[in-house]
Amino acid sequence: MSEIFALIEHRQGAIRDVSYELMTCGRILAEKLNTKLTAILLGYNTQKFVESVKSQAHRILVIDNEVLKEFNAESYQITLSKIIKKENPSITLIGHTAFGMDLCPALATQLNIPFTTDCLNMEMVDRNLIVTRQMYDGKLNAKVKFRKNPSYILSLRAGCFPAEDCSLNAEIVNIESPITTEPDYRKFVEYIEAAVGDVDITKADIVIGVGRGIKDKENLTMVEEFANTIGGVVACSRPIVDAEWLPKDRQVGSSGKTIKPKLYIAMGISGAFQHIMGMKSSDTIIAINKDPNAPIFNEADYGIVDDLFKVLPVLKDKILEMKH
Ligand SMILES: Cc1cc2nc3c(=O)[nH]c(=O)nc-3n(C[C@H](O)[C@H](O)[C@H](O)COP(=O)(O)OP(=O)(O)OC[C@H]3O[C@@H](n4cnc5c(N)ncnc54)[C@H](O)[C@@H]3O)c2cc1C
Repeated sequence: MSEIFALIEHRQGAIRDVSYELMTCGRILAEKLNTKLTAILLGYNTQKFVESVKSQAHRILVIDNEVLKEFNAESYQITLSKIIKKENPSITLIGHTAFGMDLCPALATQLNIPFTTDCLNMEMVDRNLIVTRQMYDGKLNAKVKFRKNPSYILSLRAGCFPAEDCSLNAEIVNIESPITTEPDYRKFVEYIEAAVGDVDITKADIVIGVGRGIKDKENLTMVEEFANTIGGVVACSRPIVDAEWLPKDRQVGSSGKTIKPKLYIAMGISGAFQHIMGMKSSDTIIAINKDPNAPIFNEADYGIVDDLFKVLPVLKDKILEMKH
């Protein structure tokens, strides 16, 4: 069986967490298929990246060229398509990130390779690749079986596999870059960091997330008061930002911020996967929702099935009582 490939994603000089998750997934698949994991590293001055990846894969294919310093889907497509054509991996894993979403469809179309997006899990059953994806806003998991093909491309959702310590010692293979200039029709211009507002929800130990269950902008005051009581900050789901009740820098999720606080309390948030992606790595998750079937309870360590307007004052009083 030919190898498993995992594309290393990096941004502004740092390897992104999803790359390590891809390599964990890649090693599991490689073991099942009795093959090896190769990390694909495209970049410039890649030595420090090589050092970080060396223990995680059996082999690293490195293309080090200034043209690949920053991500450009077109340059990556040209380069990767050449590597995949030559090496013929059985599976190429790429992060389902803004970067992967930009790259994968055109790459798969060019190579005419079956491609599945946003995969949560992969397994081999009788040497058939079965992939788990979500449907209907995360309410159902679908198992997808492919027609037989020598090669597949899968984009993997961030956070589905752990980044694990490993002690492999990859063989490093340097390859000439097939391109030396960015295509005329698409060039990398610059990174613009999103502005940080008065509260940085990524740095807080305690975050209270509010969702549409809060009903009205006025009700945010009681949540702010609660957050002050327990020394936390208020974050939110996307509809709250869309309604302009809180600024965009408070949004948690795939199109907002990723947070890893010690405690996340989700209030009136259903738990759509786009939201979960941004908070699932919190140390402890408490959910308050009046719907016992809300998907947020699948992620929560503790759940309160009740009306948040009843629960919140009781919680606040209890905390104040304990403080005194
Ligand atoms: C491309 C894309 C990107 C997205 N990015 C993000 C993102 O980054 N972050 C994000 O959050 N969403 C994102 N979304 C939206 C996401 O799909 C959901 O629509 C959104 O997360 C739902 O927000 P919610 O849970 O607040 O609202 P709802 O899904 O409407 O849930 C409200 C919940 O409140 C509960 N509730 C109602 N009243 C009460 C009460 N009195 N007491 C207790 N519980 C109550 C209900 O039972 C319900 O579960 C994205 C969507 C798309 C398509």
